[in-house]
Amino acid sequence: MKGRVAVVTGAARGIGAATAVRLATEGAAVALFDIEDGVEAVARRIDEAGGKALPVRCDVSSEDAWATAVAQCRAELGPVDVLVSNAYTVDVLPAHETSLASWERQLSVNLTGTFLGFRTCLPDLSRHGRGAVVLTSSVHAHFGLPGRPAYAATKAALTGLARQLAVEYGTVLRVNAVLPGPVLTEAWNGIGEADRRRSAEATAVKRLGTPEEVAAAIAFLAGDDASFVTGAELTVDGGWSVVKDSS
Ligand code: NAD
Repeated sequence: MKGRVAVVTGAARGIGAATAVRLATEGAAVALFDIEDGVEAVARRIDEAGGKALPVRCDVSSEDAWATAVAQCRAELGPVDVLVSNAYTVDVLPAHETSLASWERQLSVNLTGTFLGFRTCLPDLSRHGRGAVVLTSSVHAHFGLPGRPAYAATKAALTGLARQLAVEYGTVLRVNAVLPGPVLTEAWNGIGEADRRRSAEATAVKRLGTPEEVAAAIAFLAGDDASFVTGAELTVDGGWSVVKDSS
């Protein structure tokens, strides 16, 4: 990652923050995009460890915000070599209780935000033939979970988008998707101990994952070790999706 510039969205905490730290540790200059304050603290941690980080306020659902944020990144760090589209939002409600506004907000952050980020960064990513894009999808792209219709739809759409972009821009950049399973982040704050235990038990390894374990997979897909990997889905779920509970 030395000499490369990476943009990570949703980098104020969780998997995004761990990914920014990981890419910086591998030598990338990292722009941390988020709507929340936390990006400054994560950027400070990276700076203190001798890395290079730029905290940027960016609502990924806004085309103007992307233009401004990427311009700042180019001016302060240089053109973008790696894009990790990871920011998301979810309203946990069944379909019949999901308002149109909620549905559209989830689509605009999770899916349109990724499209806008890709389109804004494309001139940079495609300029030298080794641009890399990693989209954070979810095991819920393929498996149902009550109460998350818009979330699941966007995560499935991201795997389709990764394949499509991989084909369309295959000669100039790579696009892959990471599908995390249950990973303990701040997103789990409202989830009680019993439900956490149930989720851990549903994996093959019988524990929740860490943000760093997903960050390692993202770093692999973003780097040259994955130079022949594009259009792929990499599941990082402790075996959650291959466990068949027959009890
Ligand atoms: P998190 O809630 O800890 O972090 C999400 C970040 O996205 C936050 O910092 C938030 O401020 C940011 N964000 C939200 N809306 C934004 C916007 N409009 N513009 C910019 N930033 C915005 O989440 P996490 O658990 O680290 O999840 C990260 C990714 O991993 C998500 O795409 C999620 O779907 C995926 N994932 C997580 C799990 C899990 O168990 N944690 C499982 C499967 C998939």
